[in-house]
Amino acid sequence: STFEGMNLNPLLLKGIYEYGFETPSAIQSRAIMQIISGKDVIAQAQSGTGKTATFSIGMLEVLDTKVKDCQALVLSPTRELALQIQRVIQQLGKFMKIQSYGCIGGSQINEDIKNLKSIKKQIISGTPGRILDLIKRRFLSLKSLKLLILDEADELLTNGFKEQIFEILKTVNAGIQIVVVSATLTRDVLEMTNKFTSNPVKILV
Ligand code: AMP
Repeated sequence: STFEGMNLNPLLLKGIYEYGFETPSAIQSRAIMQIISGKDVIAQAQSGTGKTATFSIGMLEVLDTKVKDCQALVLSPTRELALQIQRVIQQLGKFMKIQSYGCIGGSQINEDIKNLKSIKKQIISGTPGRILDLIKRRFLSLKSLKLLILDEADELLTNGFKEQIFEILKTVNAGIQIVVVSATLTRDVLEMTNKFTSNPVKILV
């Protein structure tokens, strides 16, 4: 398959080519259109398969660029990964004038608060603890959220984040789209997907 064949926003397509991608990887061929169609997706995929660009491209395509509230949230288990994901989204979406932001623990929360207040962020990538903290303090509103990505879900649920993840999942609007990416489908991952997704498309790469 090709990226042109996905009927993407031309500004997104331009970002993909400028990033240096020519043809979709296996997971991109199989999952991007499913994400765009609005389905919940569970992808079993390791890093190195092109998983980050899969959900980033799907997310950028379903985003309503006119809506300035947070519409998409990516949760990942490490600070490095959360920032790396934010950079990929920023790069792929650079012609779309999207506001994205990384929220991670270990940095000054006041910095996040200042940044979230100054310009509204349409996409947030972060680690669960900091995200939950910002939600609880009411500096991050998920009332317009339509897409939640859980990257490296097996790691997310083993790193002591399980309660925080469930708490975040309980605060988001019922019926939002959920995309789960995980190297292994552990019992915790299956429990979470059973509880919070509906009729997910399962993709194994
Ligand atoms: P990930 O699985 O997200 O960790 O990505 C692994 C690596 O593959 C990253 O360096 C990406 O930039 C690269 N990559 C992702 N999609 C493509 C693609 N369609 N063509 C070439 N490289 C890609």
